[in-house]
Amino acid sequence: MEEEPLSKSQLEDLTYPCPRLRDFILDDNLPALGSPPGNGHIRKLPKVDLGTLVVLPLELLQALLSHLNLYTLTGFRRVNRRAIEAVESIPQYKAVTTHARNVLRGILSIETGQWISCETVYEKLCTAECEECGDFGGYLYILTCKRVCFLCFSEGKRYLPQRRSHAIRKFGVNRQILNTLPCMRSIPGTYSPNEKKCHERLALVDSESAYRAGITLHGSFSAMEQYVSNKSAQKLQEFNRRTSQATAEGSGPTTRRLRRPRTEDLFDGRSGNPMRFMAIVRMPWLNRVSQELDDCTQQKSLYSNSSSAYSMPGTIPDIQLLQASVDPEDQSEFRILVDQKFVKYLTIDPGLYDVDDMCFGPSLISMLPHLPPGDWNEGHISHNTPNGRPHFARVTKAQLLGVTNLWHPLQIDHLELHMGQKLRSNVYEATCPRFNSTIIAKFARFAWERPQLDAETSAYQWIENHQIGPKFLGHLSEEGRVIGFIIERITDCRHATPEDLSLCQLTLLRLHKLGIEHGDINKHNFLIHDGKATLIDFDNSTLYSDAKTLDEEFQALQEELRDTSGRGGRIVESDAA
Ligand SMILES: [Zn+2]
Repeated sequence: MEEEPLSKSQLEDLTYPCPRLRDFILDDNLPALGSPPGNGHIRKLPKVDLGTLVVLPLELLQALLSHLNLYTLTGFRRVNRRAIEAVESIPQYKAVTTHARNVLRGILSIETGQWISCETVYEKLCTAECEECGDFGGYLYILTCKRVCFLCFSEGKRYLPQRRSHAIRKFGVNRQILNTLPCMRSIPGTYSPNEKKCHERLALVDSESAYRAGITLHGSFSAMEQYVSNKSAQKLQEFNRRTSQATAEGSGPTTRRLRRPRTEDLFDGRSGNPMRFMAIVRMPWLNRVSQELDDCTQQKSLYSNSSSAYSMPGTIPDIQLLQASVDPEDQSEFRILVDQKFVKYLTIDPGLYDVDDMCFGPSLISMLPHLPPGDWNEGHISHNTPNGRPHFARVTKAQLLGVTNLWHPLQIDHLELHMGQKLRSNVYEATCPRFNSTIIAKFARFAWERPQLDAETSAYQWIENHQIGPKFLGHLSEEGRVIGFIIERITDCRHATPEDLSLCQLTLLRLHKLGIEHGDINKHNFLIHDGKATLIDFDNSTLYSDAKTLDEEFQALQEELRDTSGRGGRIVESDAA
């Protein structure tokens, strides 16, 4: 049977333009939204003022209101029409109601408004990072107003709100204390990716606050643990006493009604626990300066990996490790290509990853924290203090320096090259549709290699058309700046031996006639082919060298060709890609 191509509507049914995970959080359970305020009906003009508050300049009043907790603020808003106007004029309130309306609705519906101010929500709106791991956090935990990523809120103990009775048992606190802590009343509905139905409104308390309150009450963590275990032992004793009493009295069926006290730690269930999702709302990221939403929200909430060969906006970014310079004791450096287009430079602090893992592209990429959104080219990965996991401590859009002497008319973007065999850390065989045969690309992998490439680019200009080195074919660029060059590949060649002395002398003399000292003559820098010697590696070359220096270099040649130390050999630095 021949398969029919899918129609457009069938395709649309099967694919998403932008993946939207149905994770069944509070957003998905809020009542449907009515018409936005002020839409469709004209609000009457205020008739009375704000009493003593009228003495305050508007800016001051706004600043004051933005710091009120949301419970008080919405109470104030109900005072009169002038109060509504005042509240709606607060810039932070406007931004929150425009871009994160569900956050406000969520907070008011689970009744956590008394612990959160409008100013706090606004601050979270303008901060992209998860407060646990530093990666992009696409959610807000609205019991205490913390921005989190899916992984952190679905795995971390502190984002699992506790039933009040559980908190009392687990942290040895009492009801009076609980009443002072951030707590909420859940909205009945469907929660967690497993779509668990919850029909009741549950009274839940913030885990971390209850934990801290327990420690404060008992003096220390161990004292709290001791209290909790004594308490549960007492309850168990009491249970046993009553059970045996019931058995002795012969009232069998009642034993079944006595409940055995719970001693074990409460079931967590990670992302399968619906309570984890009852105080979670989606949170976009607002750029504080442009006051525009960043639309990377979708993309960054997914894991980065390298498996996708092709990347569309809103899907998993494609990351390719281009070069690495790994140092077990110091910062390691990486040059990566994102979505086959953008080069980013990463530095990673020592001790974060295993050296072998960092040297192997696929394993490094699988371990990298999510790439932060935005237009950046330098990122630094370090330990995140709260949990010790690697995170992006900083990303910046750096103005990277390039090679300055652009003497050749041709510039080729690195994306036009297909890199082949690596000859040295920063020298590759490559192919490019513009050339019929394989070429050699040499470029600065990292900033510290740029001065060398700058020097060597100039040297190739000095020797152009003098039959000294390989033909210079053009500059190699990356995102507009020049990072290196391409030269012809000398085929069927070998390194020089002492027998090649005269051939090498001929070439070296041509160089010296131009007043140039090579600076690094050794047998590996002379390629012998077609009855001649071609010099390479001019990064130590100096123009306008004096006769004495040149003579010394010339005299040293014979000795260099006999050298057996391996100096100047093709030692490929152990790195990836
Ligand atoms: Zn996180």
